Amino acid sequence: MRLVLLGAPGSGKGTQAARLKEHLQVPHISTGDLLRAEVAAGSPLGLKAKEVMARGDLVSDEILLGMLKDRFSRDDTRAGFILDGYPRNLAQAAALDALLTELGQKFDAAVQLVVDYEKIIARLAGRAQAEGRTDDTPEAVRHRLAVYEEKTAPVVDFYRQQGELAVVNGEGTLDEVFARIVEAIQRGHEVG
Ligand code: ADP
Repeated sequence: MRLVLLGAPGSGKGTQAARLKEHLQVPHISTGDLLRAEVAAGSPLGLKAKEVMARGDLVSDEILLGMLKDRFSRDDTRAGFILDGYPRNLAQAAALDALLTELGQKFDAAVQLVVDYEKIIARLAGRAQAEGRTDDTPEAVRHRLAVYEEKTAPVVDFYRQQGELAVVNGEGTLDEVFARIVEAIQRGHEVG
């Protein structure tokens, strides 16, 4: 199963991806986690990304594609993947398309988690206290949501036009949302 999870920051992509990974037995690839690991390691790439991430801006498409190609060169992605945090703009969506074509892999679905903005802001404020992420300050959160609206929302339309989008209500308990995602994926498979 080859899936992309879409949704605003704080919509629950990471949490659900961790569960889907167990369910589908495919790796969870979070570009945010990959970048945070580079920052923590103090690598040249991490040094470049650090300030950009703290502001809530997008790290360059070039860096992201390099990281993604590197990750996809590992054997565990052959059977599938759950991509979380990528693509975040139309250029990245096109790059992913091209990469999968190059690798001869067929894409299954993009799942969009829809959560009300008020709830997202409350969730991220809670997470800021719990995890202390530098980009969970009120200012950076506002900026990440604006970047999402401007750059990432069009990616949803891209997958809708391709007939690959499943829209899932991301509100409710973790179990409820998980069950909805699994159902949406199965439905997609029965239809497609
Ligand atoms: P969230 O979804 O809560 O914003 P992520 O962990 O997905 O958290 O991303 C954190 C930050 O990492 C983003 O604000 C951005 O700076 C950077 N980032 C992650 N994925 C990408 C991407 N595909 N393109 C550009 N920047 C990215």
